[in-house]
Amino acid sequence: VGGSPQTVSDLGEEALVERIVARLGPQPPDEVWAGDDAALLRAPPGDLVLTTDVLVEGLDFSWSWCSGVDVGWKAVAVNASDLAAMGARPRHAVAALSLPASTPLERFDGLVEGMTEAAAAAGAAVVGGDLSGAREVSLSVALLGSCEPGRAVRRAGARPGEAICVTGSLGGAAGGLVALRAGLLEGGGDPALRRLAARQLRPRPRIEEGVLLAALGASSMIDVSDGLLADLARLMRAGGTGCAVEPELVPVDPDLSALAGRAGDPRALAATGGEDFELLFTIDPARAGAARSELARAGTAVTRIGVVAEGGLRFGEREFETMGELGWEHLRKR
Ligand SMILES: [Mg+2]
Repeated sequence: VGGSPQTVSDLGEEALVERIVARLGPQPPDEVWAGDDAALLRAPPGDLVLTTDVLVEGLDFSWSWCSGVDVGWKAVAVNASDLAAMGARPRHAVAALSLPASTPLERFDGLVEGMTEAAAAAGAAVVGGDLSGAREVSLSVALLGSCEPGRAVRRAGARPGEAICVTGSLGGAAGGLVALRAGLLEGGGDPALRRLAARQLRPRPRIEEGVLLAALGASSMIDVSDGLLADLARLMRAGGTGCAVEPELVPVDPDLSALAGRAGDPRALAATGGEDFELLFTIDPARAGAARSELARAGTAVTRIGVVAEGGLRFGEREFETMGELGWEHLRKR
């Protein structure tokens, strides 16, 4: 009672590990998730898909506008989005967490809660990890998933004449970052601004959509992490093709209007803002309608924004190369 808030150094490593294990949830009787030298898992059927990503305090997030739960959630969600972009389902995650001894216990608990909640939302589980000291918080998650044998969707695979499509809407996460940095959420903010902030802080990976698109025969796919134009350039280069995007077709997050111009033109934000974690894919135009209706049944819009073409990367009348810095690096430097 009273005094300064508890920090992780008040508990020590063993007690902290116990707090994590208590949050992992029930493990299947034939698996070992924690308490041994390594996790022991039943291999899922199909192909294994494995990815990792690290979030570092000061570089990838700031405690000025992120809670522990936000950071834990995002560390798992960004990995789940990479698996979704392959058409894979997340299964098991391990996490390596480094943090200063002065870290408030509430923040530590939040990190663990965010990770386990995002994993559960993705149909996966955190099954083990490691703790270490450091000058700032860094959280590294490795996520293992699986897909139908031979059915993973690669970045390479687009062919001229195919439709280029994207799920959901774009620019919202970048708009959320603008709102958070400007302190527009202090005292609550209006509902549209809160939705933008949630897109930035608690991204929802498009897992069911990725699995459906793999089954529907998407020829190439990537998740929009660095911005539509930057990620589309990656997708086209991987396939050795060009593209023609119609700028007026790019789906702009409708909540961006709540920023009332603070983040510039919403259309520019939709083209270059990062971290929306929508799926960008190419598909035979004859199957694009089926993709739209199948995903609509899952509650997700699909918008055709252009066509795969020979030659350069075109955004309306312009070439991508003439559009300056692409992607979220641009926003980050402001
Ligand atoms: Mg990716």
